[in-house]
Amino acid sequence: MADPEPLIGIDLGTTNSIVATVQDGQPVVIKNRTGQALTPSVIAVSKNGKRLVGGIAKRQAITNPQETVYAAKRLIGRKFSSHEVQDALRSLPYEVVPGQHDDLRIRMGGKDMSVPEISAMILQELKADAEAHFGRPVSKAVVTVPAYFNDAQRQATKDAGRIAGLDVLRIINEPTAAALAYGFSRTVNGRVAVLDLGGGTFDVSVLEINQGVFDVVGTGGDTYLGGEDWDNRIIEWLVFGFAKEHGIDLRKDRMALQRLKDAAEKAKVELSSVKETQLNLPFISTPPGGGAALHLQAALSREKLDDLTADLAERVVGITTEVLGEAGVRASELKEVILVGGMSRMPKIVEAVRGYFRREPCKGVHPDEVVALGAAVQAHALVAQEGELLLLDVTPQSLGVAIAGGYVRRIIPKNTTVPTSATEVFATSKDFQRLVKIMVLQGEHELAHQNELLGEFVLTGLREAPRGQVEIEVTFDINAEGIVSVSARDRETGLRQSITVTASSGLTEEELKRIMDEQRGYLMAARISEELKVKRMELDSLARDVMDALTRARLLPGGGGLPADAVPRAEQVLEHARQVRAGEDVGALGRACELLTGCLTQLKGPSRSGMGR
Ligand code: ADP
Ligand code: MG
Repeated sequence: MADPEPLIGIDLGTTNSIVATVQDGQPVVIKNRTGQALTPSVIAVSKNGKRLVGGIAKRQAITNPQETVYAAKRLIGRKFSSHEVQDALRSLPYEVVPGQHDDLRIRMGGKDMSVPEISAMILQELKADAEAHFGRPVSKAVVTVPAYFNDAQRQATKDAGRIAGLDVLRIINEPTAAALAYGFSRTVNGRVAVLDLGGGTFDVSVLEINQGVFDVVGTGGDTYLGGEDWDNRIIEWLVFGFAKEHGIDLRKDRMALQRLKDAAEKAKVELSSVKETQLNLPFISTPPGGGAALHLQAALSREKLDDLTADLAERVVGITTEVLGEAGVRASELKEVILVGGMSRMPKIVEAVRGYFRREPCKGVHPDEVVALGAAVQAHALVAQEGELLLLDVTPQSLGVAIAGGYVRRIIPKNTTVPTSATEVFATSKDFQRLVKIMVLQGEHELAHQNELLGEFVLTGLREAPRGQVEIEVTFDINAEGIVSVSARDRETGLRQSITVTASSGLTEEELKRIMDEQRGYLMAARISEELKVKRMELDSLARDVMDALTRARLLPGGGGLPADAVPRAEQVLEHARQVRAGEDVGALGRACELLTGCLTQLKGPSRSGMGR
């Protein structure tokens, strides 16, 4: 029997992404092709138009800030006009422009790309890493998202998976994945809290674990709280100090800003293990009136950093308190507090969490890898269906519809176990009304416009009848991935109503198809350019051998007994090879290689076998 297709779990992070699998019954991380577990979630187009992904893209960010895209996860599934996007734009060095449906596009390499396309490039890279690991194609994956992601963000992440050529088995929540990995290797019965503080987001979930059943009791978080906020505080502090000393605003210079960002993050990371660090940025600026270049030098202590970011650490505690409160769970009844994410290495964070829970957070899980490992465990469980693992997640945000007066009628409250569905009856409000429009909203605010508009559903072709007589039953479904769908039917006739959905953001099916075609085109082009490279190398090596053989033949008296036309023929073939090499035709290169091989055999002659190559 053939080996079953490999399954992978992917943690598509704001800062770093990781891919894992289950091997011999154990979840393990798959290292990328440069031997690292973490692949930076960074994409770039180099000066010569090449697409770069991961570490290689991150390393060139300073010299190419405008064409280097990071933290795309902060933008996925968001509307251009949202305050979250507008806020993020102020600190991002790359260009973001509005799309057609109030979505957004990132301008890179002279092209406007949707956020799912950018995320897809990272997913593609991880897929390729997994394929290199297994030595065969990989397509089935579980991908994680922050628990707090709404429907639009989940949909957009799924779209990214499709663009990357992945069959996304399921989208699961990051803290839930962390709990799965945690519970996989030990017997746990009871309630645990998972706190995940990454580069861009903070997620909290409370789960009840019992004999392989993972029941999420409550979840919450902040999609705009993460390590970058700590970095930004350091940047602000540096910029302020520099402005005070030299009267120059370093923020105006994209390259300086990128260098500051790098230095700030580095300092923050160092301060997790040492008490004081130096920031050194030589030649950061030049005075406006000319004169010697200016350098930035500063000493930063852990104490000072904690001072600059005290309110951020308080927010971590504040959000945690809120989530526990909503879930109706007391901190003291928890069996374990699992603290994960890169920022969990910061002493101040550990201290804040310890202070709140009055216990030491669990150290038994790898803070970077645990989410991807949990995703791999889930992928395995979904396909193997051994029934040992049951995941009961919840919807992180309430679902409702807009009603008269600009208010919301709540249909499915937050923290409801998914999958779930609810039915509401809508009646016509005018005589002979033929259509009803329903706005579906996600969020907790009472005012409709303060929530996320997931879509507008128009029920058309209603029976003509006096008002109030046509009653339409609308069913809202949230599947296990937290993705929403809506269907409707006429109560009296039982006829299903046609529903048109106007996506309020994200990609339409048509756009997706076009992008997927383009991707295939790109992958094909990449493969051709790889083949060209390989063929050219082969051709170069053969040409060198032919030239060597020619030199030897010329040195030998009487040409070493070669046929009279062997030398001119080889010279001709070499010239032809030179011409073909300049072109882009893989087939022609292959034929030129064959001709060169033919010459080589002739030049070496049957009696000379064993010589040369
Ligand atoms: P994400 O899940 O958002 O991709 P990660 O969980 O990988 O992010 O966390 C990345 C964040 O953790 C970054 O802001 C990084 O600077 C921070 N980080 C990583 N290691 C450390 C450390 N030793 N001390 C403090 N912060 C760290
Ligand atoms: Mg993460």
